[in-house]
Amino acid sequence: MTFVFEPPPPASVAIAGSDARFPVRRIFCVGRNYAEHIREMGNDPNEQPLFFTKPADAVVENGAAIPYPPNTADWHHEVELVIAIGKGGASIEETAALDHIWGYGVGVDLTLRDRQAEAKKGGKPWDVAKAADNGAPISALTPVQVCGHLSDARIWLSVNGETRQDANLNQMIWRTPAIIASLSRNWALKPGDLIFTGSPAGVGPIQRGDAITCGVEGLNELRFSVLPA
Ligand code: MN
Repeated sequence: MTFVFEPPPPASVAIAGSDARFPVRRIFCVGRNYAEHIREMGNDPNEQPLFFTKPADAVVENGAAIPYPPNTADWHHEVELVIAIGKGGASIEETAALDHIWGYGVGVDLTLRDRQAEAKKGGKPWDVAKAADNGAPISALTPVQVCGHLSDARIWLSVNGETRQDANLNQMIWRTPAIIASLSRNWALKPGDLIFTGSPAGVGPIQRGDAITCGVEGLNELRFSVLPA
């Protein structure tokens, strides 16, 4: 096959304890999946969670320093469990959903909160707020064979050593099987898909020069920083 220019290498994520890498196909995200976070954002906790996406090349490697985006003055952290899909499927039943998981990681759904507020107010899409460059820092992934399936584990994030988010995966409204079942009724899932599963409460702004550390009990931590001005 001839391309008109050289195709870029696939976006990929490190794997804990391995030189192999996980090739990223798509990034799906769940919004409004923890009641306390829904309340802090002023939304109705009785509504169902929602989906949005980020481009695959929004992934940021553990340890990276990333630039503050030009189009915001309110860039927020949202720490989330990330599911890595290893086996594809459409309309997957909840009872079979865990079989499709390759592994887990911890990620941060970086959000331009000012742009999101404008989008919500105007009934417009969230892409500018959610799908920006460098918007998906993610830890090295841990295979399910090593970490097991995670449903009751601490999830936390700190900025410059100060804890900002501290919750438990057992507070998710849609648990992992429900997310995979619902998502796969909208898209046929493929190996390489990543799913950000929603943020607990405590989201807030990060600034130039900040150092962010976050984790999910049982997984490798994620650290990244924002470049100084
Ligand atoms: Mn989120």
